[in-house]
Amino acid sequence: MNDLTKENSAPLVRFNDFSEFSNELDDQGYLVTSLSQATEWARTGSMHILSFGLACCAVEMMQFMTPRYDFERFGMALRGSPRQSDLMIVAGTVTNKMAAPLRKVYDQMAEPRYVISMGSCANGGGYYHYSYSVVRGVDRIVPVDVYVPGCPPTAEALMYGVMLLQKKMRRNPTIER
Ligand code: SF4
Repeated sequence: MNDLTKENSAPLVRFNDFSEFSNELDDQGYLVTSLSQATEWARTGSMHILSFGLACCAVEMMQFMTPRYDFERFGMALRGSPRQSDLMIVAGTVTNKMAAPLRKVYDQMAEPRYVISMGSCANGGGYYHYSYSVVRGVDRIVPVDVYVPGCPPTAEALMYGVMLLQKKMRRNPTIER
């Protein structure tokens, strides 16, 4: 287990392993923590995804959602409505034509909301950087929290991006952004 995974696995209270956590709960019958830690624990462990797959990168994003990588172990779930989502994953080439709908969907998402930009095209236009019809980075349309590099990035890379986002969320506890 690497350091990042360790940090992600014990955000609420600091115990060396699960048996210590379990013994404490058995012994006392309760755990003491702060409201902000409990809020961050709940928020980072229940991200609802609005997937915005636009091109080839979306295939790797779908791979991340298969049982092999099992994104649900992070407490994540796919949502069909932006109003129920707090994480947008933009995977693929953002064209000028899609820019307005993308911003409109982002504006409908629940606060606090986060964006992961996946792949070279979403990060900065990629192969199509000089194309007349492509936006040179989704951060020109919406604020981006984590950039995942690659063409396409692997499912593992996206998973690492999600873990970095969880870390960032814990560092910036806020209700509204
Ligand atoms: S970064 Fe590469 S794989 Fe991803 S959408 Fe662009 S061309 Fe396709």
